[in-house]
Amino acid sequence: MRTSQFPLNTVKEIPADAVVVSHQLMLRAGLIRKLAAGLYTWLPLGLRILRKVEKITREEMEKVGGLEVLMPALQPAELWQETGRWEKYGPELARLKDRHDRDFCLGPTHEEIITDLARNELKSYKQLPVTYYQIQTKFRDEIRPRFGVMRSREFIMKDAYSFHLDQVSLQETYDAMYQAYTTIFNRFGLTFRAVVADSGSIGGAISHEFHVLADSGEDAIAFSTESAYAANIEKAEAIRPEGVRNLPTDELTLIDTPNQHSIEEISDFLSVPASQCLKTLIVKAEDDGLLALLLRGDYELNPIKAEKIAGIAVPLTFASDAEIIDACQCKPGSIGPIGLKIPIIADRSVMLLSDFVCGANQNDKHYAHVNWERDLPLPVHIEDLRTVVAGDPSPDGHGTLTIARGIEVGHIFQLGTKYSAAMKAGIINEAGKHQIMTMGCYGIGISRLVAAAIEQNNDERGIIWPTALAPFQVALCPMNMHKSDRLKEAAEQLYQDLLAAGIEVLFDDRKVRAGFMFSDMELIGIPHCIIIGDRGLDSQTVEYKARTSQDNEEVPLDNIISFLK
Ligand code: ATP
Ligand code: MG
Ligand code: MG
Ligand code: MG
Repeated sequence: MRTSQFPLNTVKEIPADAVVVSHQLMLRAGLIRKLAAGLYTWLPLGLRILRKVEKITREEMEKVGGLEVLMPALQPAELWQETGRWEKYGPELARLKDRHDRDFCLGPTHEEIITDLARNELKSYKQLPVTYYQIQTKFRDEIRPRFGVMRSREFIMKDAYSFHLDQVSLQETYDAMYQAYTTIFNRFGLTFRAVVADSGSIGGAISHEFHVLADSGEDAIAFSTESAYAANIEKAEAIRPEGVRNLPTDELTLIDTPNQHSIEEISDFLSVPASQCLKTLIVKAEDDGLLALLLRGDYELNPIKAEKIAGIAVPLTFASDAEIIDACQCKPGSIGPIGLKIPIIADRSVMLLSDFVCGANQNDKHYAHVNWERDLPLPVHIEDLRTVVAGDPSPDGHGTLTIARGIEVGHIFQLGTKYSAAMKAGIINEAGKHQIMTMGCYGIGISRLVAAAIEQNNDERGIIWPTALAPFQVALCPMNMHKSDRLKEAAEQLYQDLLAAGIEVLFDDRKVRAGFMFSDMELIGIPHCIIIGDRGLDSQTVEYKARTSQDNEEVPLDNIISFLK
């Protein structure tokens, strides 16, 4: 490509609304442009990078036997109603009606759609196991889209779904996917960690997240210094005896006993069996909003009763699980956004949401998470409400924990029969009986990955692309080409030779100052730069500069291609 025909859309100024470096650099390097909150156009240069992510991902999916499909973005509500997610998903699901008043959504994920396909296409155990995948646009009406394509409302995901006769077969594919993900992120040259993830509302199922390590990451992960133990922070803390995490303890005080009631008292007051009222825990925020009152039961809390139990007069909003899920855009037991003075009452866990972080994104994890699997001794002491910190003993007993920030770029999950049972997706097994299939699902944030790679690979001059992601491998920069016909000819020849050698080269044939050219090439992160000038031609040499080095190297013109290879 020539810059005369492949214009660079670089900008010098740091865009005001971009806070993380990848977002700033993606705008400055002319990879993306914002259309509206969480919506971005990929410019030609950015698209080349995105396509590289897709290509490598595709190659590795094909290697593990993935069959590529392409499913619609627009999905009928009926399928979501079958699994109950139409009600459960919350406002992140972009819902709309067609002209006939029928309900649809813009797919945030495709479990329902693929399960529908599988129940129609798969008839016999002989067709199993099978893995379908697609690289496709997803829609999630994120509560606070931010960091450019890192958390956008429309983004590109690789999502794969596997179908099996049994758990053994699912485990095999899951392991192969785990390996494929490891290969993919290694090929991208990224520093990453696979961590055990909390299975959230799906319960019991196995799940791993892949995190690119970066200080700007919205997630925290914990791993042992001495063993293979690695978990995301929710998982690491769920197994802490205290089971309570990330509460901003310095902003909290525990309300004293007059406000804490025994289970018997609560049982009596609410007229519900004591067995349904497991524990109470009352915490108060300094700014005087009630943090939480936890109760476990199948009843709906009446706000007035709840206030009395809490013993303090603060406005309280209690809602049903469904309403909470809707308001918080999260599953019971998983992490939720904040802004509501409500506890989430889930199966075995409960979440305390504070109101002083009102408006925070779901990734501002100021909440406490109590795992009822452990008996939480009451009263809870404020020192119990601390997060897992670096240096804590690793839960597997080997070494201590290191805590790092991560960007979730991939997530794999053993779904079991959650969707297939709800949608009656089965096959005829070897015994001639109808059998519900077992499923797995596997996502990679294709567009987020571009941003994550930049978070990890940049300096004050711009992006430093890992080879596999670079939009061009080589920048060819002629010095004042318009002043010398000899140079023009030599540069043109070298460009043709580089192309013929199969090297992706960006020939900067603009009539611009050398410094301008270099700063553009550095900003957009091209790994190798060849500088060809009239003076060098006298001795038949060119200068070579790696993006990562400060110094130029003289290389004979005749050797430059073999030098690059
Ligand atoms: P997050 O925790 O960051 O909200 P998620 O757990 O909701 O992500 P998954 O449902 O696991 O996301 O989707 C698979 C992958 O899609 C994620 O690992 C992530 O890389 C990517 N992804 C999810 N949401 C977004 C988004 N809003 N913008 C860009 N990529 C996203
Ligand atoms: Mg999310
Ligand atoms: Mg996540
Ligand atoms: Mg995830």
